[in-house]
Amino acid sequence: MKFGGTSVGKPERMHQIVSLVSREKEPTIVVLSALSGTTNALVEIGDHIAKSDRTAAKLAIDKLEAHYHAFVEELLKNPATLSKAKNILAEHFEFLNIILKISFSEALSKDILAQGELLSTKLFCTYLEEQGIEHALLPALEFMTIDAYDEPQIGSIKIRLSQLLNQHKEKKFFVTQGYICRNSRGEVDNLKRGGSDYSASLIAAAINATVCEIWTDIDGMHNNDPRVVKRTLPVEQLSFDEAAELAYFGAKILHPASIWPAQTYKIPVKLLNTMQPSAKGTLITQDAGSVGVKAVAAKDNIIAIRIKSSRMLLAYGFLRKIFEVFEKYRTPIDMITTSEVAVSLTIDNPIFLKEILKELEPFGSTEVDHNQAIISVVGNEISQTTDIVKKLFGSIMNIPVRMVSYGGSPHNISLLIAAEHKGRILQQLNKGMFGLE
Ligand code: ASP
Ligand code: MG
Repeated sequence: MKFGGTSVGKPERMHQIVSLVSREKEPTIVVLSALSGTTNALVEIGDHIAKSDRTAAKLAIDKLEAHYHAFVEELLKNPATLSKAKNILAEHFEFLNIILKISFSEALSKDILAQGELLSTKLFCTYLEEQGIEHALLPALEFMTIDAYDEPQIGSIKIRLSQLLNQHKEKKFFVTQGYICRNSRGEVDNLKRGGSDYSASLIAAAINATVCEIWTDIDGMHNNDPRVVKRTLPVEQLSFDEAAELAYFGAKILHPASIWPAQTYKIPVKLLNTMQPSAKGTLITQDAGSVGVKAVAAKDNIIAIRIKSSRMLLAYGFLRKIFEVFEKYRTPIDMITTSEVAVSLTIDNPIFLKEILKELEPFGSTEVDHNQAIISVVGNEISQTTDIVKKLFGSIMNIPVRMVSYGGSPHNISLLIAAEHKGRILQQLNKGMFGLE
């Protein structure tokens, strides 16, 4: 059971987690994120330190510390556990204050970022202690590891985790940190922002769990973006393939990388709502449950590049040469469409754009469109669904489309549009594809 930032962000939410976990009959590992806002605050502290702005860093540390003091005062009632929690805060904030005095490094910034999950789990365990609930804390830094390419090492995660679990054979309730891990140099590292979902799915895979539950503040994956569109509904069931498309193309509820461990080890994933535990949520399994369109999602900050060349005509190896440029700069390509004389593709990482364009020069003329958005229509066997194309384009006729990708997978149709049309297109698709207004 993984609980996200908002699910641990207030003392009453932590109380709620205990009542949710207490209902479980099977042994349970609880994976916690940092309290909401903490990782952002730690990023900010790291940035200040990197810029040697010690005053700003100190202010941000003190502000965070005050927040945690208020939090524990409300979380805990017993003077003994409260004083224990204050010692935990003292230890971690002292660490941050020491960092202020030493010179900044990349490794140090990862240490700063790890404080959020270390704090949330320790404070949660103190609360469990106050409630007299038997449990064990499994330190993620002792089992969650990534290799030199930042890939989790599932084999060794499995071995180390089972060793740790074996030390607590009599226990049924375990707590661990999401997000944080150790890298190939043995340093503290992390699974990237939002990575607690990934931790949960890796852990579920490693222990062959019956289910991986992701508890957040919404009742499952919705058919459209609830931040943009007024009426949206939760999707009851998705296949791993569909969920991967939606997670990657913008549904913020689940970290996209968290799909593969669950899919590979056949662990069902449930997306559930801490604020509304009886809501059905979304079940993600191998089986899609039904045929047809299930949801649309949007991915922002996309850059489209068109490479036009008469030399592409009847040529072979042209695409390989172009792709090699992107590979060289480790820039993933999301969408691609081709005509006989041009190819358009999209990226979302602009860091090496200048270098990439320079190296594309010998292949033809390039055009770049910034501020684009990918709109993904996702479902099961949608290409087999009658009228899908008519319905899709019929509902967005007034909106110019820059690229269309259809047939790459049977589960996805993607459109590239200028970002300014995003709200309108999601709204119109909501009506046209789902009959929701
Ligand atoms: N606390 C981390 C973050 O905010 C990881 C997570 O919440 O999933 O990115
Ligand atoms: Mg998250």
